Amino acid sequence: MQYFLDVVLPIPLERFFTYRISKEEADFLKPGMRVAVPFGKSKIYTALSYRVHQNPPEAYEAKEIHQILDEVPLVNEIQLKHWQWIADYYMCTLGEVLRGALPSAFLLESETLILPNRSSEIDENDLKDDEFLVYEALQHHESLKIDDISGIIDRKSALPVITRLLRKGVIVLKEELYEQYKPKLVRYVKIASQYQKDETLELLLNQLSRAPKQSQVVMALFQLQATIKKPIKVKDLMAKSGATSSVIKALIDKNIFEEYYLQQDRVVFETDASKKEVELNRVQTEAYQNILEGFAARKPVLLHGVTASGKTEVYVKLIETIIKKGKQVLYLLPEIALTPQLIVRLQGFFGDKVVVFHSKYSLNERVEVWNNVLLQKQKAQIVIGARSALFLPFSKLGLIVIDEEHESSFKQFDPAPRYHARDAAMVLAKLHGCDTVLGSATPSIESMHNVKTDKYGYAEINERYGKVLMPEIELVDLKEATKKKLMKGHFSERLLNEINSALQLGEQIILFQNRRGFAPIVECTTCGHSPQCPNCDVSLTFHQYQNQLRCHYCGYHMVLDESCVACGSFTLDKKGFGTEQVQQELKEHLPDFEIGRMDLDTTRGKHGYEKIITAFEQQEFDVLVGTQMVTKGLDFRNVGLVGIMNADTLLNFPDYRAHERSFQLLTQVAGRAGRTKKRGKVLIQTYNPYHRILQQVTDNDYAAMFNDQSYEREHFAYPPSTKIIKVTLKDKDFNKLNESSLWFSDALRNLLPNHRILGPEFPPISRIRRYYLKNILIKMAEGQSPSKIKNGIKRIEKSFNAISQYKSVRLVYNVDHI
Ligand code: ADP
Ligand code: ZN
Ligand code: ZN
Repeated sequence: MQYFLDVVLPIPLERFFTYRISKEEADFLKPGMRVAVPFGKSKIYTALSYRVHQNPPEAYEAKEIHQILDEVPLVNEIQLKHWQWIADYYMCTLGEVLRGALPSAFLLESETLILPNRSSEIDENDLKDDEFLVYEALQHHESLKIDDISGIIDRKSALPVITRLLRKGVIVLKEELYEQYKPKLVRYVKIASQYQKDETLELLLNQLSRAPKQSQVVMALFQLQATIKKPIKVKDLMAKSGATSSVIKALIDKNIFEEYYLQQDRVVFETDASKKEVELNRVQTEAYQNILEGFAARKPVLLHGVTASGKTEVYVKLIETIIKKGKQVLYLLPEIALTPQLIVRLQGFFGDKVVVFHSKYSLNERVEVWNNVLLQKQKAQIVIGARSALFLPFSKLGLIVIDEEHESSFKQFDPAPRYHARDAAMVLAKLHGCDTVLGSATPSIESMHNVKTDKYGYAEINERYGKVLMPEIELVDLKEATKKKLMKGHFSERLLNEINSALQLGEQIILFQNRRGFAPIVECTTCGHSPQCPNCDVSLTFHQYQNQLRCHYCGYHMVLDESCVACGSFTLDKKGFGTEQVQQELKEHLPDFEIGRMDLDTTRGKHGYEKIITAFEQQEFDVLVGTQMVTKGLDFRNVGLVGIMNADTLLNFPDYRAHERSFQLLTQVAGRAGRTKKRGKVLIQTYNPYHRILQQVTDNDYAAMFNDQSYEREHFAYPPSTKIIKVTLKDKDFNKLNESSLWFSDALRNLLPNHRILGPEFPPISRIRRYYLKNILIKMAEGQSPSKIKNGIKRIEKSFNAISQYKSVRLVYNVDHI
């Protein structure tokens, strides 16, 4: 009898790949275990075992696997089903989902570069023979590939050794070089075992009678041991006894104390042990009851609660009951709303049952969370995370919370899988048979549509917690202000006055401008030339601090010359303005106040974002100028005024969701004002004060916005009334792109005669990173199975790929959210 194994390779293959295995391996292997397999001429990949069977592949001779890498599945069956759904629905391969889902330390392959970990001290005695060989070799090489390591240890597969070395902190992977893996070892002490009993303590203290400092420390350690009954950290002992480290060292040298090290999970938050209890107010309780009713009817529920209404508290109440049942909770948030503030708040309620899964964490931190979820550890019972937390190995999910469900950043744009985390989470919830609550102050048109069509339950909180009034919103007409000469730079006199009075009252201020940098366009007033990115179809943005022109799409940058590169005149004019300029102008108006800035440029690095938020919270700045980042979920107590520098760039964005997004963004940023005590104030500067969306924001009229937008979506055939798929073609060759996209759209029109196919056409930014782009939009007619249509498109793709001159053209699908 022959045995074969189908595996998922972490590459874009349309099908499973089949390997030969032995009977023993066939008995041992379960779906979701990893195996090391050869692929292509000489590559090795980590693949996922999917199915054992007895049918040899027809098209090729099956090779043998190299090795089984797990003793128990790393990925469970629910995950496999979910990933298959994602692959089908979002038109990518299971391998691409696998690559996006697993932390890359789980997916070592022959191209992975291994480097010595220079930042940790290694005890060579701890290394097994094969580990030592690799360690030794890395002393003489910058880096090694997995194949090199196989050669060094003279074994077919090096992956097990590498995994061990990773765990011991001896090596790092190339991609995490900048994260500097360091296992955090914490130093502990205990009293040597011969002194553990009370009677020996007395003897010991007698012995130490001439060393009073030492006997004090011994006493302190005994007391600590008696009270906390947990390992004692050296740090805590020093704090308790006031002893210096040399006193402790003396006791260790005398063999009275023993020191030892334990590894601490790398992500530990300081929490206050005093657990808080939530008590919901009347409206929150009502919403809570409505949610439970929706759950009872087996429906996901939309929690529509105005900003600062206390949605978080309602989630907390829901989570409490779930974890009492021993089930797991997934709390999804857009990356940017995953604030330290929220994490600390949830830890206040749930203590050490909360873990965070975040792309800014290192590979090893992510591996740790994965393992803790897999082993159903209590410390990972509640996972807060951005969209990729969806892929963790949950086995007893009881509740999914999707907070800020309207956020567009739940959609992954690049690379595949290009999934929407909210929608994929709904499918995950179905697979687990668990409940879902979606929360927002400004629900997406899609989710509200699902409420209106009775697919979702609905709960509402229409007042702020503590009856704080909704902020007062005022529109400032920039046209009028300019005419009356009431503008100082980009600030209307009205806004400056409000800023001054807020500062007089000791309040803080948030100013929002949707662009970073100093000025988005530099233009020569003599010849009209304006510097463009050589790789993209955009103007370069001027950044004053570095005196650079930068492309926000590809990162290209150059020094700004004082004269025009085209005609040489010294007549360069800066058009438009970004956060950097707002900050600088305001500094001139308010020399005595501190003005901070939060945008991509100031928040780089692992803790960049956190630092700025903390500084603002602790009132180190009076004013915070920022991009979208200031709009999300932040809960500052002292903000009395929010200013929007210019609402028009949002409204004019060429996208069918632009109005919905503007409403959401402006309402959210306005919601940062006056959250806890006094009524806050919001000023919106605009050239179009009569724009319907701005009126709806001012009146806090979500219902009117929803009705308008739903009508338009239906009228122009956009989601949610119509399902859409956007196909983007990319190539460096302009003519080839034009030709191939015509071919593709013709094929689509043939395949789908009853559906609307728009394009191909260039998007507003028609070249990015040297690739020209063209879009084709498919609007599906009702009554036909979307999955059939997708299969048809995939067949067209196959024929397309068979045309040799189109080989270089890349195809990208975006389903639903484009
Ligand atoms: P949202 O998420 O709806 O914008 P939050 O959950 O941030 O609102 O709540 C706003 C503020 O009100 C927070 O500071 C929160 O601590 C407080 N709050 C809300 N509900 C309660 C409650 N039931 N008990 C005590 N404080 C509450
Ligand atoms: Zn010029
Ligand atoms: Zn560029």
